Amino acid sequence: MGDAVAAAPRPLNISEIFTSIQGEGRHVGVPSVFVRLNGCNLRCVWCDTPYTSWKPEGTDWMLGGLLAHIRRQGLQHVVITGGEPMLQEGLVLLTDRLASMDFTVTIETAGTVFLPVKAHLMSISPKLANSVPHRREGGRWVVRHQSLRYQPEVLRKLMDNYDYQLKFVIMDQEDLQEVRQIVTELEAPADRVVLMGEGTDPGTLFERGQWLAEVCKNTGYRYTPRLHIDLWGNERGK
Ligand code: SF4
Repeated sequence: MGDAVAAAPRPLNISEIFTSIQGEGRHVGVPSVFVRLNGCNLRCVWCDTPYTSWKPEGTDWMLGGLLAHIRRQGLQHVVITGGEPMLQEGLVLLTDRLASMDFTVTIETAGTVFLPVKAHLMSISPKLANSVPHRREGGRWVVRHQSLRYQPEVLRKLMDNYDYQLKFVIMDQEDLQEVRQIVTELEAPADRVVLMGEGTDPGTLFERGQWLAEVCKNTGYRYTPRLHIDLWGNERGK
């Protein structure tokens, strides 16, 4: 019998790679390389990257070329986002290599799937009832989206294994009750909870930010802007 042959690394299907500043959460303002993986198992009605979910589009990248491209950007922080990046098993090897090259890695996930990746910050964004696409495409995604969007066992595993933040996308006051239920069930400390207004224009985010900031003052939750929207609007690759 010959030696076992190591499995060849799988390509990663990527919708875009760009440099920007992190606009949300604990690392807001940090210049970063964003690697946006294509494909998602959810279909949020307000998804701001439909080119990874409702109408997915991506290109296959092999690991070597991807790492060289990231290194050429000359930044320390790498944000792996999506879509749902945890759907692609090649992410494990990518994050291994990034960690060994001393990059600081954030992974942005909805927390429905677990992969043993390397990450300095797991930015977990469980999706609330406000994300359910009741009427979009005749409602054909409703049942699947509803059954997948909240996976407490996966969330606990991510919280146990990584430094994390729990980021919730908020549309109105009713959403806060669902946030409280989830935070209680997961026993998440208030300072790991981040509230962010839903919106892709500065006016909507300003209006929602006004009352969300008051909620944070009263609960100890964190507030996050969407700084990239303030700076560039809802422009792709910014
Ligand atoms: S989880 Fe993210 S990428 Fe997927 S549909 Fe929802 S907002 Fe879009």
